[in-house]
Amino acid sequence: MATLNNADQARAHLLGIYAPAPHLFVRGEGSWLVDDMGRRFLDFTSGIAVTALGHGHPAVRRAVEEATESGLIHTSNLFRTRAAEALARELAEHSGLPQVFFCNSGGEAVEAALKFARRWARRGGHHPDRFGVVALKGAFHGRLFGSLAVTDRPRYREPFEPLMPGAIFVDAMDPHALDKVDPSTIAALIAEPIQGEGGVISLPDEVMQRFREWTARHGVALILDEIQCGLGRTGTLLAHEPSGVRPDILTLAKPLAGGLPMGAVLMTEEVAASVKPGDHGTTFGGGPLVAGVARAVLAEIAAPAFLAEVRRKGDLLTGHLEGIQARHPGRILEIRGRGLMRGVRLSAPISPVVAAAQEAGLLLVGAGPEVIRLLPPLTVSDEELAEAMERLEGALEAAATPQEVDA
Ligand SMILES: *Cc1c(COP(=O)(O)O)cnc(C)c1O
Repeated sequence: MATLNNADQARAHLLGIYAPAPHLFVRGEGSWLVDDMGRRFLDFTSGIAVTALGHGHPAVRRAVEEATESGLIHTSNLFRTRAAEALARELAEHSGLPQVFFCNSGGEAVEAALKFARRWARRGGHHPDRFGVVALKGAFHGRLFGSLAVTDRPRYREPFEPLMPGAIFVDAMDPHALDKVDPSTIAALIAEPIQGEGGVISLPDEVMQRFREWTARHGVALILDEIQCGLGRTGTLLAHEPSGVRPDILTLAKPLAGGLPMGAVLMTEEVAASVKPGDHGTTFGGGPLVAGVARAVLAEIAAPAFLAEVRRKGDLLTGHLEGIQARHPGRILEIRGRGLMRGVRLSAPISPVVAAAQEAGLLLVGAGPEVIRLLPPLTVSDEELAEAMERLEGALEAAATPQEVDA
């Protein structure tokens, strides 16, 4: 009781916009978080796909130390600094998208992408009606007025309407969905190669290819949002690589700067050419501290051997999950995703399982009411994967309702 009061008091001035969490973390060590009572938790949230190298990775620490030692944490975009220029070049080399804009979050990256897409689609003011955006059912692109407008969550949207006008939601799996859209009113089509918040749902390659074909034919920008699924999470540096599709605009953020806030918008030469000085900007974007850390993260993650390990551990995870599924018939309806971005769809609400897992020292996050999302650090060890899956299985058993046990 006393602890509860202390916790309530401690958070008294934090806006009550997030659900109160039971643990107070004081340390991070690789795949583990340690709370104020010294309890250790396997972190299979990675801060929602952010800490891809785990907590306290030496490359991240070194990059932070280098920036602080130089005394150069921020200068604004009035001036040049080395880290941003080098990071832009490295991202361009890895993605094949030669121009890069830096910002401070995923939502900001989507806002910028939408602005650049309008600029490009209007081609010097010749198509004033081209401002609409096609987005997908189940999509999540952020909480700002533009990114929220292309997010398919009525509960997030409705209290804040009117949002940015012109968003149209289509069902990605309906091959005729785009037939009903008038492309002369559309600036962009935005899609996550794997929907994260929407339930860890992969877009089939042929759907990505259909989107590419439709957008190219109609002069609409294809924006791929890899804020969650990009940068190694799925076992390739970029999640869209296996589809063979190249977007006009690509958004990155969550894992980019090892836990520091950073977003990036990558684009083709053509899109970049339509953006003029003064069209957009940010005070903090691409500062030397975050950009230096992002270079260190990218160097680790983009290494072919690192990505091969993510694929191998992804297969290992699949094996564990299929084992649990087989031992508990009817409890796991579907195993989704790729690499180390996985969704486990249960036959019942996940919240008791997530709570039991936390009790057992495994941190999980949901993707909707029936899907557990597994987002371990990409550096997770085989032993930690096995340990986490044991704890997940235990939680599944602990949370089973009597009816489910009978079934
Ligand atoms: C998290 C997320 C965003 C928003 O990022 P923020 O940094 O929270 O603004 C946008 N798109 C996708 C796919 C995301 O997962």
